[in-house]
Amino acid sequence: MDYDVNCIFCKIVNGDIPSAKLFEDDDVLAFLDVNPVTYGHALVISKKHYPNFLSCPKDIMNKVMNVAQRIGQVQIEQLGAKGINILINCKEAAGQEVSHFHVHVIPRYAATDGFKLEFKKLKEVNLPVVAEEIKSKLN
Ligand code: AMP
Repeated sequence: MDYDVNCIFCKIVNGDIPSAKLFEDDDVLAFLDVNPVTYGHALVISKKHYPNFLSCPKDIMNKVMNVAQRIGQVQIEQLGAKGINILINCKEAAGQEVSHFHVHVIPRYAATDGFKLEFKKLKEVNLPVVAEEIKSKLN
């Protein structure tokens, strides 16, 4: 499905609802997140409707990531960001709210600028067992 009538990002691509656009070509659109977590928080999306990271074709993924990288560079050069976080939420359990593949490009101004990704460490993990579990299914 190229276009989902119920998808808010498809409506943005189609121009049915407004967005603060940063970049557009045949395959990729970038615009500002309407609820920014830091100044300049951007979203980069595929124009076609792919529900998430896992369902996006590799060639489109590459194009989206190229635009995300360029926006990150400009956030540092132009907005004075000191770093960036690249975030892809994939599926509801991971916090994905809009089911249309997108990459958050979040400029960071300081570790205390209000955005925080917390890595709570698991206590007991048998790394070789976990590695084998994953490796056994990788090509
Ligand atoms: P996620 O949780 O990764 O699915 O993030 C979806 C993001 O889309 C959130 O950060 C929202 O603030 C953002 N968002 C939702 N609707 C709009 C919109 N109309 N324009 C711009 N950003 C939006």
